[in-house]
Amino acid sequence: MANKTAIVTGAGKGIGRGIATALAQTGYNVIVSDISQKDCENTAEELKKTGANAKAVKCDVSDKDQVAELFSQTAKEFGQVDVLVNNAGIYPFKPFEQMEETDWDKVMDVNLKSVFLCSKEAVKVMTAGGRIINISSVAAFIGFEGLVHYCASKGGVNGMIRALALELAPKKITVNAVAPGAIETPGASQPDEKIKQQTISMIPAARMGQPEDIANAVVFLASDKSDYITGQTIIVDGGWTLR
Ligand code: NAP
Repeated sequence: MANKTAIVTGAGKGIGRGIATALAQTGYNVIVSDISQKDCENTAEELKKTGANAKAVKCDVSDKDQVAELFSQTAKEFGQVDVLVNNAGIYPFKPFEQMEETDWDKVMDVNLKSVFLCSKEAVKVMTAGGRIINISSVAAFIGFEGLVHYCASKGGVNGMIRALALELAPKKITVNAVAPGAIETPGASQPDEKIKQQTISMIPAARMGQPEDIANAVVFLASDKSDYITGQTIIVDGGWTLR
């Protein structure tokens, strides 16, 4: 494990922070990236306190130049990239009839174009054993009112990984996704306890998911143990979408 390096985008809070923490605990050098300088610095500082090698790099994943800078900073700090976790994503609810082109473009840029931009940089530097892991969503498989753009973006991610997995197989780089269900994060926080309980009542595991639940699947996909798995999406939703 020593000296393997992972980049996690959107790692200032929520699922990304959970993934960065789990990878650091597993022994990876971790680049903690986020659109918020303060949030990624906070996460990186917490990781460093536990003895991990972590560095904060601010990056808006929808911006090509910032993504190039993220990889250049990573090369400077750790010399290589073994794992890229495309986690950053947004899910702003808006009914379709009120949705403007700007709403659509923003969600596509942050959730889908970002995967293109970051993966392009990753393949320039990744060698055999490299891992591209994308945080998709159950919204790639089922519909959610108010999230037409989001569902489309995550469906796009799932389509993209199958094609990219084929292209990168000869280089021994795998491309997979984890599709979370209802996970308790700052972005998905539900102040109404009644609605939260309604959601839980639909989940066979009878609880909300935690960032660690997603991080566990990511750690597996990042490891050598997933070597024969590519182009796949692991649904981590406590059984929510089974019925
Ligand atoms: P979150 O709590 O909102 O955290 C996401 C982090 O990404 C925030 O720190 C956010 O910064 C950052 N971010 C936003 N736009 C960015 C950009 N353009 N570039 C870089 N960083 C950016 O979200 P989450 O719930 O952890 O979600 C993480 C991922 O899981 C997303 O891809 C989401 O679609 C997916 N997911 C979540 C759930 C769930 O139930 N939570 C379910 C299925 C899938 P700011 O807060 O400052 O904007």
